Amino acid sequence: MVDGLRAAIAVGKLPHSLIVLGPRGAGKFTLSLLLTMALECERQPRDVVEGRVLAGFCGECRNCTRIAEGAELEAKVEEAVAAREEMRETDKKDTRVLVQTHPDVLIVPPDPPQLLIKLGQVRTLIGRSQYLPTEGPAKVFLITSAAFMKEAANSLLKVLEEPPPYVHILLMAENLGELLPTIRSRCAVAHLGALPVEEITALLAELRPELKKVERELTARLSEGAVGRALAFNLAEYAAARADALVLLKNAEQNGDHTALFKMTETYRSGAEGQTRTTALLRALSSLLEDILLLQNGAPGRVRNIDKTAELQRLADTFAFEWIESAVRAMDAVQSGMRRNLLRSLSLDAFAAGLEGARR
Ligand SMILES: [Zn+2]
Repeated sequence: MVDGLRAAIAVGKLPHSLIVLGPRGAGKFTLSLLLTMALECERQPRDVVEGRVLAGFCGECRNCTRIAEGAELEAKVEEAVAAREEMRETDKKDTRVLVQTHPDVLIVPPDPPQLLIKLGQVRTLIGRSQYLPTEGPAKVFLITSAAFMKEAANSLLKVLEEPPPYVHILLMAENLGELLPTIRSRCAVAHLGALPVEEITALLAELRPELKKVERELTARLSEGAVGRALAFNLAEYAAARADALVLLKNAEQNGDHTALFKMTETYRSGAEGQTRTTALLRALSSLLEDILLLQNGAPGRVRNIDKTAELQRLADTFAFEWIESAVRAMDAVQSGMRRNLLRSLSLDAFAAGLEGARR
């Protein structure tokens, strides 16, 4: 896939509107930045692979180095948000977060706090797209999320319909369903698929040598084929969240003694930290429930929490499919409760009680 895109750049045929599709951590933004460097590099190096000419980048020219600074996206977004905080109230309202490390390349991240691509951002993109590039051959816009406000999506359609010949828009999405069909139909799609467990395990052996063999395998499975997630995966944090998720499941499995449950939920407080922990807990719980379903459906080879197989097998023998279904629904309720900002520990207790009730 990457070679195909490089070949397209080499002959000047990279689609002007491209959706870079793939799961969280698959490398969508990294690939988009590398493509941008290949488009803008002053030296335009070429590789020939099996008779095909592929575009590359030098990584050293002023265009490459400035574009590469965009790799620190999180820090750059934080800077932009902090700068906005300093503004007068009236200006704050009209200022949208944008990242620019090169005059011809504009990065459009989801605008906080709602984390959506907003109309003001798309308007800026459209405004800039009217001007010819000044320092490279192309004007590149990287939209790092497919979560658009409605008006913003409609507005983007206009530029996708007829982009100026020097404009490239790279739109990153986790799934195509997030995007309006009218947007999808105007874009080519580059799909970053999930890598097999073995490939990620091998990569981890090379890049995270501190992990033991079983930890590498676990990390590879839990990151679901996404390299970026595997490399950044915090196994200790996950294990802590999963231990709590197992307390919830065991509490639902047996009637009576709730000491362990209350001890656990007590440690979840409201506020940002509690929210982060609850989100991690729910994510771990959902991966355990999926594994239980895999075991029930005779697909043990796809289980991700391989170090807990015995426990999961026992739970798989206990819980009926209907129970798992209602547990998933209860998880959704906790999540929407969090969005409404209920007291975290309260909703967790209610959730646990709900799990127990559903089993009877
Ligand atoms: Zn270069």
